[in-house]
Amino acid sequence: MRNDMVEQQIVARGITDSSVLDAMQTVPRHLFIPDQLQSLAYQDRPLPIGMDQTISQPYIVAYMTESLHLNPDDVVLEIGTGSGYQAAVLAEIVKEVYSIEIVTSLAKQAEFTLKQLEYSNVHVKAGDGYHGWKEHAPYDAIIITAAPLSVPPELINQLAEGGRLIVPEEKNNQQYLTLYTKNKSKVKSKRLLAVRFVPFTRTKE
Ligand code: SAH
Repeated sequence: MRNDMVEQQIVARGITDSSVLDAMQTVPRHLFIPDQLQSLAYQDRPLPIGMDQTISQPYIVAYMTESLHLNPDDVVLEIGTGSGYQAAVLAEIVKEVYSIEIVTSLAKQAEFTLKQLEYSNVHVKAGDGYHGWKEHAPYDAIIITAAPLSVPPELINQLAEGGRLIVPEEKNNQQYLTLYTKNKSKVKSKRLLAVRFVPFTRTKE
């Protein structure tokens, strides 16, 4: 089923980066999905993971990952761990993945799943990702998997020189995957696909 997913949903739609295709081929997506929905794990759709949150459609995971142009020695920050699936896909490709999840029970579950699968290069923290994770910055790439109205400024600050950041940004009730790049301290953005993600939420401060 995973072979078919990669061929029919990902290669067929134009994803070519072999590191991304290998990762999607390797990560057991069904183990990141609640038991009663496991039979749907390789379908072309997002799925509920509890607490009103979702695991993204496989194609969107592949598309966002490819857009980050990752290298094996990169350090990546993810905001919105959810099931931990995207973090595992990243962990197949890069050196270290730091991931923050605002819903504590999801963070715990994701941490458990990733540990069972022996992803020792993924580090999950429960909390509001708005301020990033300063201790491990700068990051070669940052991926935000919940939709904010604008990119939290500290996340741009924590991006390395030459770094890439992908985010489903909401403009006039429509979300677009937007790729930010930082070069010589200048930040450029480029609008990519129209998408539908759960909202970026905040902890009251
Ligand atoms: N990447 C996930 C998909 C997660 S859905 C996966 O592969 O399964 C988006 C997640 O972002 C949700 O779990 C939601 O709780 C979380 N989220 C929303 N706002 C957040 C914030 N401010 N900080 C951290 N996580 C946040």
